[in-house]
Amino acid sequence: MTDVRTGEQRQGQGQRKRVFIRTYGCQMNVYDSDRMADVLRPLGYALADAPEQADLVVLNTCHIRERASEKVYSELGRLRDTKLERRAQGRDLTIAVAGCVAQAEGQEIVRRQPAVDIVVGPQAYHRLPELLAEAERKSAFRRAGKRLPGAGVLDTDFPAESKFDHLPAPAGVHAGQAFLSIQEGCDKFCTFCVVPYTRGAEYSRPVAAVLAEARHLTAAGAIEITLLGQNVNAYHGEAADGSTWSLARLIRALAEIEGVARLRYTTSHPRDFGRDIVDAIDAVPTLCDHVHLPVQSGSTRMLDAMQRLYTREQYLERIAWMKAAKREISITTDMIVGFPGETEADFAETLSLLNEVGYDAVFAFKYSPRPNTPSIKLEDAIPDEEKARRLDVLMSRQREIQITRYKKYIGTRCEVMVEGRNEPRAQYIGRTTHNKTLNFVVPPTAPQTSDRSADQNTNPKAGNYVPVIVTGSFPNSLLGELVV
Ligand code: SAM
Ligand code: SF4
Repeated sequence: MTDVRTGEQRQGQGQRKRVFIRTYGCQMNVYDSDRMADVLRPLGYALADAPEQADLVVLNTCHIRERASEKVYSELGRLRDTKLERRAQGRDLTIAVAGCVAQAEGQEIVRRQPAVDIVVGPQAYHRLPELLAEAERKSAFRRAGKRLPGAGVLDTDFPAESKFDHLPAPAGVHAGQAFLSIQEGCDKFCTFCVVPYTRGAEYSRPVAAVLAEARHLTAAGAIEITLLGQNVNAYHGEAADGSTWSLARLIRALAEIEGVARLRYTTSHPRDFGRDIVDAIDAVPTLCDHVHLPVQSGSTRMLDAMQRLYTREQYLERIAWMKAAKREISITTDMIVGFPGETEADFAETLSLLNEVGYDAVFAFKYSPRPNTPSIKLEDAIPDEEKARRLDVLMSRQREIQITRYKKYIGTRCEVMVEGRNEPRAQYIGRTTHNKTLNFVVPPTAPQTSDRSADQNTNPKAGNYVPVIVTGSFPNSLLGELVV
């Protein structure tokens, strides 16, 4: 007999369903994955720890570089095999592709991998319940030996209504930390980047919606909130009185919410990074001492080709504002090596920028030509081996810089947010206001117990702040001892 009941009907009969969501790419995707789980929860879906345990697998994908997209197709191949094994046992697996690859490649995904049931773009995932019902209908017909037209169920619209107006309240608070998306899309159109095509036009969420979500998150246990946007400094949300709020103004209001101990935001675009943000760092103690300000290149000629809308000098002016702030601000960046036409002289300027700024971390990438972006048509492509060489030189230099910079923390006392415990190393994992990982131990004089709810002096709990003295440093992390 063919089972044509909907998910809700099955749930009504006491059956429990599980969803596994695999997230690729940036923090915005992490936020979206949590929100997809929120959308699926009322349908009876609990989270699974592995695809093997799941009835529904969602791949929340990233299209930013070619390698990120290709990983999705390899994973889909593995999921197809699981689906076929399940079908042989009379069960099923629903496969959904969400995120930026879904948006960019749409029907092509179902063509390349017919086992995919649902393709949903980043602006349409609030419609997952309808898409699942439709996919289930198709699958019930298939089990009955019939066929509905068209493979897969596709939704890659940029709906006129915002998805945020349809999402349930978030439940995504992990160990006191939460992401809050305040802005979506991007209007900058850097010549190398797919984001304006996959995430759509820039949109700032209204002030009231952001404040309400922040209050909800603190009530659910969040004490550290990271505000997210592709270009978060361009935030211009409408307030209840019709005025437009900047990011700096929003931060001041968020800092007033009871329970908010730390605020972070990412990513900043240098063109929109104003003095008001540095003033906010000086004025708002809860704002963390860290700014991620992607530069991409140290050469104005390359910045121009990338259409970044600022020069090296203008970027360095913003760095000077931060260095003049009352608190020491940790600065991190993104860089691309091997953009078409990048000469040795351009690359040397990128290296000299590293020395001049003194970053605490650099996320560097080999240029990856992406479909639909203007730079794909540029001549003077740099061979992959040369890109790899430049990446290596850049990261080696940055490693030396970080060794020196991280050493300076030895002997200082930091307040860290406890993020978890590394059992094999018998260390706790913490994060400083400068966004550095500080792994620490409880000194031998303090009695350790196996009771995780015990005093913070002996067994610090994830989601709490504790004081730690830095005792050692590595290129990417610090080592310390809990102050008891
Ligand atoms: N909005 C941010 C900004 O303006 O800097 C960047 C967001 S993007 C998701 C993250 C990083 O990916 C970029 O800063 C850039 O370094 C890198 N990236 C984007 N497109 C790339 C491409 N085609 N090839 C290599 N790296 C790329
Ligand atoms: Fe992409 Fe540029 Fe927009 Fe950043 S600012 S998301 S790099 S187009």
